[in-house]
Amino acid sequence: MINLILFGPPGSGKGTQAKMLVNKFKLLHISTGDLFREAIKNETALGVEAKSYMDKGELVPDSVTINMLKEKVEANPDVQGYIFDGFPRTTNQAEALDQMLQDGGEDVTLLIELKVEEDEIVTRLLKRAETSGRSDDADESIIRNRFQVYLDNTAVVAEYYDAKGKATQVKGKGSIEEIANKLELVINEALIS
Ligand code: AMP
Repeated sequence: MINLILFGPPGSGKGTQAKMLVNKFKLLHISTGDLFREAIKNETALGVEAKSYMDKGELVPDSVTINMLKEKVEANPDVQGYIFDGFPRTTNQAEALDQMLQDGGEDVTLLIELKVEEDEIVTRLLKRAETSGRSDDADESIIRNRFQVYLDNTAVVAEYYDAKGKATQVKGKGSIEEIANKLELVINEALIS
């Protein structure tokens, strides 16, 4: 199996690139942000809880997030692998993911970090808000808070996998195709090494 973590700050292009990779490598794309937004749309208890954090740009608590992720993985056992997008966002989540994969005899193949600077992120997300309808994209102070949360809580996850020799970085600037080609290259390298 190929188990990829597409990593990077909000607006770094994880979702866009995940969709490109799904076609190339036939993997299941799991975005915890999308799962939360679906729950909000369906007005479930999970959605109500998640919304209170998402509206402020804070992280949804680990226990809630990890359970939701596990359910999604367990509901899709017959896949060739996964692209995790927006998960893990804390060391706790990374440890839970490792444990879950190891229980099934699997492991994380590679974490790919898309590097994009804060001001570029703000510009991108304000633009995305015009079409995404996402309230957390429409307000600069919420975007900057999401970026700060990324630095404070999430960036350590890249270090966690780097210590295992399983992390790499790709510049998140350029055309969608250019970045997709770079991602394909580093994934193929990881698969043969
Ligand atoms: P995203 O679509 O990945 O930008 O996520 C949107 C929002 O959903 C984040 O700002 C968090 O509030 C929440 N969220 C998504 N994934 C996670 C996660 N792995 N852990 C905690 N909160 C998350």
